[in-house]
Amino acid sequence: MRQVCLTIGGSDSCGGAGIQADLSVFEALGVHGCSATTALTAQNPKFISRIEPVSLAQLDAEIHAVFDYYDVAVVKTGMLLDAEHVAVVSALLHQLHKGMLVVDPVMISSSGRALLDQGGVDALNHALLPLATLVTPNLDEAAVLLGGAVVDPGEAAKRLVDQLGCAVLLKGGHGERDELLDLLCGLDGEITPFSHARQPWSESQSHGTGCRLASAIAAKLSLEESLTVAVAQGVAFLQGS
Ligand code: PLP
Repeated sequence: MRQVCLTIGGSDSCGGAGIQADLSVFEALGVHGCSATTALTAQNPKFISRIEPVSLAQLDAEIHAVFDYYDVAVVKTGMLLDAEHVAVVSALLHQLHKGMLVVDPVMISSSGRALLDQGGVDALNHALLPLATLVTPNLDEAAVLLGGAVVDPGEAAKRLVDQLGCAVLLKGGHGERDELLDLLCGLDGEITPFSHARQPWSESQSHGTGCRLASAIAAKLSLEESLTVAVAQGVAFLQGS
């Protein structure tokens, strides 16, 4: 039996992000992927034309159906839409999930559409993040979680760990030359940098990068890698894909 990961997030009609991207990463990394959907989006890499929330009853039923049958090792969350959806996810994970939780605090698509409203951000902070093993904000999301712009990424990562009580992978700082620097800060405040070459921006290839990194880390954690190794392998997987 393969290890089981559950992604909870939005459906992306073009397959580049959201639960479709997560399931393809789980498959590529040899784990069984389950999904529970918060919203249906009509989108392509250029724009999102429509978002249809999934009912709270349906979301609740999907999460229950997965936990009723599978021993879920790691849950990964992505687009959660609003406070009500965050509340259902948080309450059910608190009740049913004994394993690790990777939270990608998705707020705005790169095409500019809000994927989590302000109430959702508050609920994320108070209900879901206290359950998390790892949160993976980019610099903009970190600024929202901290309530102010990120000036020094290392210091911001440490403040987030103190504030949220989980490990933080802060994505998108700048290293030397044309490198990007992701900073992993553990509960002990120790920072591990992961530098990688900046990939040329491409509308179709860059869409969903954050989703794929978080789901690759979730898959590696389910395969019993340490957090540092799981992040290193997740970053390497994304570079190679
Ligand atoms: N759509 C859905 C359903 C997502 O979950 C995400 C990211 O998590 C996006 C769109 C945004 O993707 P990007 O900002 O990489 O284009």
